[in-house]
Amino acid sequence: MTTAVTTAVTTIYLNGHYLPLEDAHIPVMDRGFLFGDGVYEVIPVYSRRPFRLHEHLDRLQASLDSIRLANPHTPQEWEGLIARIVEQAESEDQGVYLQVTRGPGPRDHAFPKTPQPTVFILPLALTPPARELVESGVAAITAPDNRWLRCDIKATSLLPNVLLRQISVDAGCAETLLLRDGFLSEGSASNIFVVADGLLLAPPKSNLMLPGITYDVVLELARAHGIAHEVRPIAEAELRAACEVWLTSSTKEVLAVTTLDGQPVGDGRPGPVFRRMYAAYQDYKHTVMRGKEAV
Ligand code: PMP
Repeated sequence: MTTAVTTAVTTIYLNGHYLPLEDAHIPVMDRGFLFGDGVYEVIPVYSRRPFRLHEHLDRLQASLDSIRLANPHTPQEWEGLIARIVEQAESEDQGVYLQVTRGPGPRDHAFPKTPQPTVFILPLALTPPARELVESGVAAITAPDNRWLRCDIKATSLLPNVLLRQISVDAGCAETLLLRDGFLSEGSASNIFVVADGLLLAPPKSNLMLPGITYDVVLELARAHGIAHEVRPIAEAELRAACEVWLTSSTKEVLAVTTLDGQPVGDGRPGPVFRRMYAAYQDYKHTVMRGKEAV
């Protein structure tokens, strides 16, 4: 008897073509490969509806402007390309990864005269943190933020973030919280919020952090739900004395940090402000998924 074996084929988009992931190749002279000369986005998709798509496309535009690379597609074209990837992906929920590099050229730091950008779109599995993790919170560790001064660009050259993230992996922690000149900037792959004396604090957007899409959602929800908050620099001492610390990202959503550098944050459990925000975030997400709210 023969058994039919179905292997899931991941369809990706590369430079005008939809094709199986294993058939997708880029030239070795691509500047994304040689220099990390490119930018990217990760867009969460729930029930095949991209979440905050326009905001992600706006941030992509800002990143492209910052690296002086013309956007190869209009927002409408991006929507169409992403829609087709979302449609063909196996799962209803996905994280759509898209990347634009300055394309192939001679190995010269200077831009090619007429760049031919490489455009790549890949559906990734999206699994929001499990209930147990939401209820226990995660451990984090701090490290000096030794990245460059354009952390607002969502650049594919992620070596500093990779090294910083590995510090937490080696310590058995979920994230590395970054401190620069005595202030909290963000996590190696997330934004960070702090609750001090019942007040939710967020570091202001600047060149020292990525303007997170989830960061914006959390501040909007704080406003909508009357959660007292302030956007201002957070000193290292405030971080260490905080009753609550949260991390936010498109894939992690909102997660409580309950241990920092081996010390409990507050009473070592996700705090009351976190629980309110988590519930508000899930509500909002489900409303969006049901299509009752502008995504
Ligand atoms: N900061 C960094 C350095 C990140 O890599 C990420 C996640 N990509 C974030 C913040 C959070 O951004 P978002 O909420 O848009 O996922």
